[in-house]
Amino acid sequence: MQASITRTRSRAAVLAVGLILFGSLPTSAADRPSETVLVFRDVDVFDGSRMIRHTNVLVRDGMIRGVGTDVAIPPSARVIDGKGKTLLPGLFDAHTHLGMTYAEAFLRDALDFGVTTELDMGGADATIALRKKLATGGPSDLADLRTAGTVVTVPGGHPTEMGGPPQPTLASGDNVQGFVDARIAEGSDYVKVIYEHAFPTLTKQQLEDVVAAAHRRDKLVVVHVSTQIEARDAIAAGADGLAHIFADSPPEPGFAEFAAEHHVFVIATLSVLESAAGVEPKRWWEGDARVAPYVTPSMRGALERAMPPAFAEKVKLPYAEAAVAALRRAGVPILAGTDAPSPGVAHGSSLHRELELLVRSGLTPLEALAAATSEPSRTFGFHDRGRVAVGLRADLVLVNGDPSLDVTATHDIVGIWKLGVFHPRVRAEVSR
Ligand SMILES: [Zn+2]
Repeated sequence: MQASITRTRSRAAVLAVGLILFGSLPTSAADRPSETVLVFRDVDVFDGSRMIRHTNVLVRDGMIRGVGTDVAIPPSARVIDGKGKTLLPGLFDAHTHLGMTYAEAFLRDALDFGVTTELDMGGADATIALRKKLATGGPSDLADLRTAGTVVTVPGGHPTEMGGPPQPTLASGDNVQGFVDARIAEGSDYVKVIYEHAFPTLTKQQLEDVVAAAHRRDKLVVVHVSTQIEARDAIAAGADGLAHIFADSPPEPGFAEFAAEHHVFVIATLSVLESAAGVEPKRWWEGDARVAPYVTPSMRGALERAMPPAFAEKVKLPYAEAAVAALRRAGVPILAGTDAPSPGVAHGSSLHRELELLVRSGLTPLEALAAATSEPSRTFGFHDRGRVAVGLRADLVLVNGDPSLDVTATHDIVGIWKLGVFHPRVRAEVSR
């Protein structure tokens, strides 16, 4: 089958819609936030934890300057009618990978679906370079980025089997503090550890030592696990977060309470587990007119790729969903993350699938939205984003409808702003 897919920036279409909705819009990413005063009028706001109905939001210089019905609308303001719409903080995907080749395309895909911040959970030197470039004002049509940099793994450990470029590994007897310090010196924002017994992996002692070494430098430690036993070991070793929930066994009584007592957070990544479990959810995006037109070739490549069938024997989605439900009841912070671009999950679009799966696992829609906004922001120590509140970045997503009632309303994106700059979405036109 030959599929020819072209990615076109249909600015004309975007603008035609924009003119109807907004009156006038910035016409290019070169429009700087400092010249723009923006008011969302009579809009419902999800502020990161709750809904504020029929309010106004004022944006100036790329920042949120006012929230409330008493916000005065300056004559120069660009006014956006928010009736029937919901304004959300820009979304986080708390577990992604950018790799070496398509990093910028992935971050563009992310922003196209309202993901304004990605947390890379293990990447190449190129990821650190891109993170630094964005920190000093790189391309404005990309999602912002934080990165774990090079993961902590042992010789022969995951992901060295995947054949990427050679990477430093932690051998038995190596100086753990030196290894962790080298990652931090390279630019790791937090430390990601691979604790995965399908391959050679760290001993429990090494795991504890890595956690201690990172904590000595005030860095968070996030641990890749795939089994319940690994999850318990990581929590016992003092990890701050799990990069996945396990899906190998039903959560044992007391597991969630154990996690809660240790103040750990969990990035659920149900969407990649759904893919690994071999569930074919009728290609959730294909029949959705709110999503399909924006699935770019780079997204499609990931979404259509299947996991090796062997995973399906080990990964049972209902176990993962039960674990998420138990963690939620125990008060453990749950974060939305996809593990894009693993087979079956894509940057940007899959975050919306993740929200749906979180709700299916028992989170309320508000809790799922918090898992993609205020929770990752708080957990990873951001002070400038994750909520709609005065003084924070105007990273915003406007959607039709009310995602606090039906979380899939986030599929229906009306507009995306990063630092107050309107982001024209890309339509991927597909011909076969
Ligand atoms: Zn990952």
